[in-house]
Amino acid sequence: MPSTHDDPSRGPWVCVLTPEGRGAIAVARVWGPGAVGVADAAFRPVKGRRLADSPPGMPRFGHVGAGAGDEVVAVVIESDVPEVEIHGHGGPSAVALVVDALVAAGAERRPPSAWIRHATRSRIQAEAHVDLALAPTLRAAEILLDQMHGALERELAEIGQLLRTGSTEALDRLERLIARGAVGLRLTRGWTVVLAGRPNVGKSRLLNALAGYERAIVSPMPGTTRDVVSLRTALDGWPVELSDTAGLRAEPDAVEAEGVALARAHQAGANLTLLVLDRSESLTEVDRVLLEERSDALIVANKSDLPSAWTTGPAMLTVSAERGDGIEALMAAIARRFVPGPPEPGSGVPFRPRHLRLLEAARDALRAGYLGGAIALLATI
Ligand code: GDP
Repeated sequence: MPSTHDDPSRGPWVCVLTPEGRGAIAVARVWGPGAVGVADAAFRPVKGRRLADSPPGMPRFGHVGAGAGDEVVAVVIESDVPEVEIHGHGGPSAVALVVDALVAAGAERRPPSAWIRHATRSRIQAEAHVDLALAPTLRAAEILLDQMHGALERELAEIGQLLRTGSTEALDRLERLIARGAVGLRLTRGWTVVLAGRPNVGKSRLLNALAGYERAIVSPMPGTTRDVVSLRTALDGWPVELSDTAGLRAEPDAVEAEGVALARAHQAGANLTLLVLDRSESLTEVDRVLLEERSDALIVANKSDLPSAWTTGPAMLTVSAERGDGIEALMAAIARRFVPGPPEPGSGVPFRPRHLRLLEAARDALRAGYLGGAIALLATI
């Protein structure tokens, strides 16, 4: 495989591509000049020829490692400089047997990121490869796959071309690309949502309804959720961490005070607060204070299955956490807050802070009339 990252004067290298820890199988990769020779020195075929004499792509069964060694399947991978992939048993001891034997035969151990850099044609593609493994949902993975297949690079090349021809469309395209970064930066980390409200309005029950399963403790006694209870879920395919908070009330008892402080701290860092109100009871002073304090919150009027004590406004979402009424609409509303316009399939999406910093710098350069600077900045992404 062509690469501009490896130092040709060194190698071969070996890395373990599968995660550390227990697992049924582990995959080691040997690459660089002399990769097949090193693998051959460590590989003892059960029968037949050496790896160097095996056709590329043909799985070979054998042993690698001291003593009996681990039972492995080794394959020569065709490339400019042929590589070898070795599938052995998972678990730290079996992996060590294989890696130690390859190192003893002359390979240098490298982290998996070194192989990813070697196997990808650009920095952006390598970053997308790494982030793809961290994508918590299919929707996030699809966008990162697009970037791995060159969507962001194509967009950058097109904008660069527009800049060189002096088109006024370039700035507009750049702005739209930067806007898609709001989604891109969340693909691996997700968004955070906290549920706030006084005790007993139904926060725990709502958290369960949103997550689709029982998690937080639901209790008819006010103030029983004393800690922040977090869980990760997907809303409309976007990764979201939901946190229930200690009920916020006017005079919390000593034990609860800690939970309330934690809850407030948590809310300060959240991307969105759901302010939960109980529609079956009159609004209290605490509700009013929270409504004022959290003016940017999404307001949820819960317990719609009970007779209502007040009229809901148009800006509120009415739900019954108990029965599940209105939960889907609430999930869609949360997703819309985070992603008002999902990126079209195949479109370029900046997904690392580095991309966004350089894009913003290019935009600023362009606005200041520094065309050459903008072109140069885009080329460094
Ligand atoms: P929290 O203190 O805000 O977390 O409230 P909980 O989730 O513990 O709920 C408090 C009480 O309200 C429990 O008895 C729940 O069963 C009840 N509750 C929660 N949501 C609803 C709802 O939509 N309808 C009805 N009728 N009861 C609810």
